[in-house]
Amino acid sequence: MATADDPTGNLHVAILPFMAHGHMIPIIDIAKLFASRRGVKTTIITTRLNAPLVSKQIPTTAEIHIELIRFPAAEAGVPEESETADFFSSTAQKMGPNFLFKFFHAAALLRRPLDAALAKIRPDCLVSDAFFPWSAESAGKLGIPRLVFHGTGYFALCTAVCIRVHKPHKNSDSESFVVPCLPGKIELTPSQLPESARKEEEGNPFTELVREMAESEGKSYGVIVNSFRELEPNYADFYRDELGRRNWAIGPVSLSNRRSEEKAGRGGRGTGESSSDCLKWLESKEPDSVIYICFGSLADFADSQLKEIAAALESWGGSFIWVVRKDPRTESESESEEEWLPVGFEDRTAEKGLIIRGWAPQILILEHEAVGGFVTHCGWNSTLEGITVGKAMVTWPVAAEQFYNEKLVTAVLGIGLPVEAEKWVRGTGDDEVIMAEGIEIAVRRLMDGDEGKEMRRKAKELREMARMAIEEGGSSHSSLSDLIDELKQRSHV
Ligand code: UDP
Repeated sequence: MATADDPTGNLHVAILPFMAHGHMIPIIDIAKLFASRRGVKTTIITTRLNAPLVSKQIPTTAEIHIELIRFPAAEAGVPEESETADFFSSTAQKMGPNFLFKFFHAAALLRRPLDAALAKIRPDCLVSDAFFPWSAESAGKLGIPRLVFHGTGYFALCTAVCIRVHKPHKNSDSESFVVPCLPGKIELTPSQLPESARKEEEGNPFTELVREMAESEGKSYGVIVNSFRELEPNYADFYRDELGRRNWAIGPVSLSNRRSEEKAGRGGRGTGESSSDCLKWLESKEPDSVIYICFGSLADFADSQLKEIAAALESWGGSFIWVVRKDPRTESESESEEEWLPVGFEDRTAEKGLIIRGWAPQILILEHEAVGGFVTHCGWNSTLEGITVGKAMVTWPVAAEQFYNEKLVTAVLGIGLPVEAEKWVRGTGDDEVIMAEGIEIAVRRLMDGDEGKEMRRKAKELREMARMAIEEGGSSHSSLSDLIDELKQRSHV
């Protein structure tokens, strides 16, 4: 705890990640950013099985401690192993809504263990994921500020509030609508909205969670945003001035990873060996010639959809790295045993393509100069990581707030082309298959045409802005300094 007579003005920041890769990876980056500042000590509060995933992402030199709390699996009726971010990615989504409700109940039962951990370590502030709305009260009990981490950018945060408040989809069942009050003329359709927004009145437990999250934001000190002001200034202003949210943009937080090992270790899974194979392969390719295809840690397409992607890539004929959420093949398995791939696909595309089964070292791949385009599901981390390294995108949103992020990329920033996904689905693309022809057209336009070239030019400008934002004197660097100063002053009172 910082005290008035402490000349170094130390600050102790506690961080509570939610156990899904898309939330955990950036909040650990945030822990690293805090810890990189003089006089700031950081403690990540997490459960036993997640601790190795967390440690793999933090350099041994960083002033970051891990405080373990127990995951109340038995009390919530979920299996022990469900506490890990890996389980959430691989299994939880497939187990259906009833399991997810139980899982979120278990997450809510972390409240008592968190209270005990906070009482023990006595931090000066708590940064916790928006999925833990009750943690505002945990911080309140200790008289310390709680900062919310949503995991998404200004544009999506603003869009979500405008839709929640004005409910424009209620007046239009299938037609598109313009998001009321939001700067710019942003059009969406009801089927692109998250289920929690569409099925509000049906007592959907996720709607209840979203309501609690909104309420808890009002009780919190402010919001930490993984974005940079120059990327979405109108929406940053709208969020602060019109929606009245105190906030600090400190991103892109992925740029806190400077060394290759740190970049490869994000998500706690990559191995140095698989990364170097991949980079060696990229070295043999021309600049901007390879398209990287990855749908994040959760989206899990049906085999029928994967076959369409394979057909599109083969017909396009360019170079690709394609990440598929399947287990790596064992030596005894032959290619023909993989139902999701057209027979002989890998042989025919051996010169051109690389399929990664499982987890890819995304940042290392994306930042390589041979990569000229990114087919993305528009998860916010992937979207911002693409922007940060100056890549143009083919946008293919699936769930969460990804359809909002798509609009930022295509309609506001003009650095992406949509594959024309129309329907929000939880986790898998089971019931809507995008055909090979449509995928190929989008990939061709991005990779081979003048349109794509112009988008790459714009994306590279944003890359420079992103880099400047996190350097000393840049907007995100200064914003974090301001936040730290404010928190230090507060804890000295
Ligand atoms: N990621 C990765 N390798 C993979 C898949 C994902 O490193 O094979 C990382 C990616 O860089 C990003 C995160 O996992 O930081 C995924 O977050 P995002 O918000 O893009 O999507 P989500 O997984 O939450 O849908």
